[in-house]
Amino acid sequence: MKKYDVVIAGGGAVGAACAYFLSRDTDLKIALIDLKKPGNASRASAGGLWAIGESVGLGCGVIFFKTLSKLHSEAKGEEVPVMRPHQLPDCFFEFALTSNNMYPALHQEMLEKHGVDFKFERTGLKFIMYNEEDRLYAEQITQGIPHLADQVRWLDAEELKKEEPYVTDDAIGAIDFICDHQVNPYRLVDAYLEGARQNGVSLYLNTEVTSVIRNGNVVEGVKTAEQTFFCDTLINASGAWANELYQQATGRTMPVYPVKGQIVLSERMPKIMNGCISTSDCYIAQKDNGEILIGSSTEEKGFDTTNSLDKIQELSQGAMKCLPILKESSIKRCWAGLRPGTPDELPILGPVDGVEGYLNACGHFRTGILTSAITGQLMTELVTGKKTTLDLTPFSVERFEEAAQKAG
Ligand SMILES: Cc1cc2nc3c(=O)[nH]c(=O)nc-3n(C[C@H](O)[C@H](O)[C@H](O)COP(=O)(O)OP(=O)(O)OC[C@H]3O[C@@H](n4cnc5c(N)ncnc54)[C@H](O)[C@@H]3O)c2cc1C
Repeated sequence: MKKYDVVIAGGGAVGAACAYFLSRDTDLKIALIDLKKPGNASRASAGGLWAIGESVGLGCGVIFFKTLSKLHSEAKGEEVPVMRPHQLPDCFFEFALTSNNMYPALHQEMLEKHGVDFKFERTGLKFIMYNEEDRLYAEQITQGIPHLADQVRWLDAEELKKEEPYVTDDAIGAIDFICDHQVNPYRLVDAYLEGARQNGVSLYLNTEVTSVIRNGNVVEGVKTAEQTFFCDTLINASGAWANELYQQATGRTMPVYPVKGQIVLSERMPKIMNGCISTSDCYIAQKDNGEILIGSSTEEKGFDTTNSLDKIQELSQGAMKCLPILKESSIKRCWAGLRPGTPDELPILGPVDGVEGYLNACGHFRTGILTSAITGQLMTELVTGKKTTLDLTPFSVERFEEAAQKAG
């Protein structure tokens, strides 16, 4: 039997960030328990820190909303409507932008204190416009975020060509979100874990939490196949699987479910991109080692993690349309990951009414790499009883119960 102050279930970007920030800012005794299940999202991610892009529905979002709008229209037997931007609520912008602002200093800190480099690159994110419909879409996006006007640059075709010479001559321009950058997601998780390890966190990797120990309304710990871990606080950071542990901890259910995303990765290429790119077909990012990452589909297929030819073809065609030079590239590999989705696309963070010793840190959907840093900080504030940097009310699990009651 082991006793910790905090046990973190799940060691993707979110759980690892919680372990890092808690161990950096407190003297608590902490354990992180993780079993890499097929489809774990952090290793499948693109590593975009697209705080504005994702908040206004670009990046992973653009395909998500295109897919949703197509499905709804098909279900109603209607024509697919002209695409409109889908902006997330203000609380999400604040959450995403606060996290985004943490990365430059975090990158420095990881390099200097822990000797790890998660390859933070200042890239910007350009939305490429091919036609008037795209321009209208871009205009609607910028009209929706007047307070962030200083973070958006409009590029005409000539300016775009200068900055991204390999983008197709068919492009009529772009909008560039200048504060949206990228990291290497594997290295980010490794950096959090290594930092946490150096700070004294006990890492139980390749280990599954098999059950939660509950005594009345108090969560007292977890069990694995081999051991029992007692703790004062259990943080549930188990990604798309979070509802399983939530049910055991609280006796209730919460709507966290897997949303599959497929990605294609090219072999290394010479530098052909200066920034990350989103189009209405896909996003494209050249990583620091020259590989080009093309993402990503949005599919609700349970825990299925197979790659399908249709999605890989769609993504590849979208990327070649934008960067014709990609016709000369070869595929290194494809994969699929499971985003921890929620119905309103917001994460689920913090305590649960009537349950002691338990915190949610889950449901980060398509931005858990970007928002892992602020989540780690918020969980540290909750565990230590400090006032949280952000108001967590919009992210509480109770919002779903309230919505259900209103609907009922
Ligand atoms: C294709 C794709 C592209 C993406 N691109 C981006 C992007 O560009 N930028 C961005 O910010 N986000 C992106 N995302 C989203 C991002 O990857 C996720 O939001 C984030 O990784 C969620 O992190 P997590 O730690 O909550 O979940 P995960 O990374 O899935 O980690 C949860 C961990 O808990 C483990 N686990 C589950 N149950 C148990 C258990 N009982 N015991 C022990 N361990 C358990 C899992 O196996 C896993 O290792 C993308 C996602 C996908 C799929």
